[in-house]
Amino acid sequence: MGGGGILVVEDEPRIASFLSRALSACGFNVVRASNGRSALTMLEREPYDLVLLDLLLPELDGFEFLERSAQLRPTQEVLVLSALSDVESKVKCFELGAADYVTKPFVLAELVARIRTRLRQSRAVSTTRFLDIGDVRLDLQRRTVNHAGQRISLSAREFHLLEHLMRRAGEVCRREELLASVWGYTFDPGTNVVDVYVRRLRGKLGDDLIETIRNVGYCFTPPA
Ligand code: CA
Repeated sequence: MGGGGILVVEDEPRIASFLSRALSACGFNVVRASNGRSALTMLEREPYDLVLLDLLLPELDGFEFLERSAQLRPTQEVLVLSALSDVESKVKCFELGAADYVTKPFVLAELVARIRTRLRQSRAVSTTRFLDIGDVRLDLQRRTVNHAGQRISLSAREFHLLEHLMRRAGEVCRREELLASVWGYTFDPGTNVVDVYVRRLRGKLGDDLIETIRNVGYCFTPPA
């Protein structure tokens, strides 16, 4: 998807040029934006393979960027790279749809590994086109969903969640498993974010596809 390379959104010139040089050396195509507003304008023109997003930015901060980019390009993958290391900021970013979160100061090797993981996941997804279960069809390349012949619009996170549940159809997916796989959490964020997203999916797809397994998690069970 995209093909626009990596968009580095960073207002600190030294970090921006370091990232740009380091990632180019790793073979990535890098473009830069020094504030949230110009990043959004660039995203309006084309999608990127990945957006690397600082949070404390002039003009329009990273949180607001996430909010607007989710409207603008719901399937855009965003990796947050920020000096903010508190759980609230992380949770907020994940709730706004960020795919991953790395804190500054960062270790370049770790950042590159995480970038590769994000890119691999979007590429792996594009090798098989459709995932069909019951009357739900996921188009894994276009990141769209059809339910009973109707096109349903989902955010990137909603799509990831539905995809995970569908790949494990008929099996119980524990909350922790969903938090780790869909949100990248390796800790308990202490929120009901999974429940909130399942509620959103049910709002769009109807109540009968995703079953609640009390105190455990959720199970995708299409009506027979
Ligand atoms: Ca900054």
